[in-house]
Amino acid sequence: MSATIPPKIKNQIQVVQGDITKLDCDCIVNAANRSLLGGGGVDGAIHRAAGPELLAECRTLHGCRTGEAKITRGYRLKVKYIIHTVGPIYSGTPEDAVQLADCYRNSLELAKTYDIHSIAFPAISTGVYGYPLDAATPIAVDTVADWLQSHADYDMKVIFCCFDARTKQAYQTKME
Ligand code: ADP
Repeated sequence: MSATIPPKIKNQIQVVQGDITKLDCDCIVNAANRSLLGGGGVDGAIHRAAGPELLAECRTLHGCRTGEAKITRGYRLKVKYIIHTVGPIYSGTPEDAVQLADCYRNSLELAKTYDIHSIAFPAISTGVYGYPLDAATPIAVDTVADWLQSHADYDMKVIFCCFDARTKQAYQTKME
């Protein structure tokens, strides 16, 4: 994991506060559950904003394992694509961190195969799934920074979309 983030990588990462469904970039990431059939939190907000066509496409995907990622179109959102990833339900075991990092890495890999060049992530697992923000934030930032560094030839912009001020503060502190 990265100790300090190189300036070039920092320039590819933006921390914003707001509703991820309002963003205008190539792709947003959904913190989904294994059914991929909608839920509460950011998942519910994305399904409401994207419309019923999203649920129809999600039904064809037959769920998603924890740490993995699947892609759909964006429907009524401004984004072309939505990547659905399933974060771990926090259990306090080392597996949590592995699976949370997998969410970010697999989402970025999938995005690259779809020629996506800007992607926004919510703070996966830090809501209903109970991952402590202070533990989840360095995993999110370091995993993304490591991926960007190892794909230096690929133009990718990453937005961390924080729903509340506390989450934004945690990301900004980690980025400094
Ligand atoms: P999980 O089940 O992975 O914990 P949640 O949706 O409960 O997912 O929470 C993940 C994060 O998404 C939390 O920080 C929550 O505040 C945030 N969140 C909820 N709604 C939105 C939204 N519309 N845009 C961005 N982030 C959101």
